[in-house]
Amino acid sequence: IYEQDRQRICKAFKSALEGSIGNEVPFRLVRKDGAIVWAEASWKPIYDNKNIFIGYRTTIHDITDRKKAEESLHASEQKFRLMFETSPLGMVLCEMDGTFVHANRAYLDIIGYSHEEAIKLSYWDVTPRDYDTNEAEQLRAMKETGRYGPYEKEYIRKTGQRVPVLLNGMVVKDANGVERIWSIVEDITDRKVAEETRLNLHKELEIKNKELESILYAASHDLKSPLVNIQGFSYELAGSCDLIRSTLATDEKNPEIKKTLDTALNKDIPEALDFILTSTSKMDLLLTGLLDLCRLGNAEKKIETIDMNAMIADVAASMEYQIKEAAAKVEIESLVSCLGDVPQISRVFSNLLTNAIKFLDKSRQGHIRIYSSRQDNQNIYCVEDNGIGIAREYHEMIFEIFYQLEPDRIKGDGLGLTIVKRIIDRHNGQVWVESEAGKGSKFFVSLPCL
Ligand code: ADP
Repeated sequence: IYEQDRQRICKAFKSALEGSIGNEVPFRLVRKDGAIVWAEASWKPIYDNKNIFIGYRTTIHDITDRKKAEESLHASEQKFRLMFETSPLGMVLCEMDGTFVHANRAYLDIIGYSHEEAIKLSYWDVTPRDYDTNEAEQLRAMKETGRYGPYEKEYIRKTGQRVPVLLNGMVVKDANGVERIWSIVEDITDRKVAEETRLNLHKELEIKNKELESILYAASHDLKSPLVNIQGFSYELAGSCDLIRSTLATDEKNPEIKKTLDTALNKDIPEALDFILTSTSKMDLLLTGLLDLCRLGNAEKKIETIDMNAMIADVAASMEYQIKEAAAKVEIESLVSCLGDVPQISRVFSNLLTNAIKFLDKSRQGHIRIYSSRQDNQNIYCVEDNGIGIAREYHEMIFEIFYQLEPDRIKGDGLGLTIVKRIIDRHNGQVWVESEAGKGSKFFVSLPCL
């Protein structure tokens, strides 16, 4: 007998001597090989015919397996108890009619009742009546599948205050076949507050954006008329110069004055006028672009199914002249249809194709390929060229308003990609570029599929 159990067992033997029958006391035995086994013994004192005690009739069962099972059950119960008591999530066990059976600390904190108070209540006492329809739906799901949730609702605390919660639950059966519901409940007040703050910020941002857009629109619009004046008067000045020039040619004047006037009229003034006119037409181009961009922000969007094959064929046909000029080979693969606003999406691909042609490398045969694929509920379209390419550090900047890599070498206004991005953003899509300087570019557009 294992040393620590000896005293206990001796006591039990003694009480058996005093007449009682040995009950089944579990104790440990040490085997010859030193291993410990759990045993359960029952014994009876035996007397000879003169009624003298001669020993015990003892039966011993090896209960090691049962003991092990009990121990592991105990350990897992403790583990569960610890989880239950210390969990930051509320946990509650209810009867099928909603009566509370057991709740952990976190749950009681959410509903604001003590355990004693809670077990006199039911789920329905803490559920606002305006959730009755939703509750019925969850109950139906639970009856069908044995589970419910994730389900967002509110509880009414003891104080009457409402608290937003997220519930998940399942039906469990005890050893007697009685069904109950275990629910895991999360207090989502912080998340709701954060969501509301985010929503308010988003609304505020939208209002500010609209304000900015209208300021930009007004500014661009109002700047146009002084610009027209500058342009007009510059032409008038040029005309006056012509007049003076012709008058001077016919009249004999002091050669000194004639020379000075000649320089002013034939060199300085025409040069200045040239600068003014170049700048004003550039400014005109920029203002037209800005106005265009502003209009885009407010433009109606009619979302419909787009046959991309037909659309891209139209876009390419409208650029036949540029394609021929560049002697480029344009290859259009079969494209998947998508959802979008026809004129706006057509503009996206028109801008991308224009760029693909414009930025081809003159030293090699231009090759442009347009293709599509479907990925995670999105259609991805690609306009690929083997042109001059774009170094990695400019991949984001080229989408910024008026940004051009080589404005003096290749004509443009730096608005094409800004417009592309704007339209695609408004379609909840994305646009990005993969490119390497000297090798070519791939412009990708993702759009919602059907
Ligand atoms: P723009 O074409 O009028 O200059 P964009 O906004 O369309 O303006 O493009 C911005 C810049 O991005 C261009 O100036 C050019 O430097 C670069 N870019 C756009 N598309 C391509 C392309 N396919 N290949 C190389 N560079 C490109």
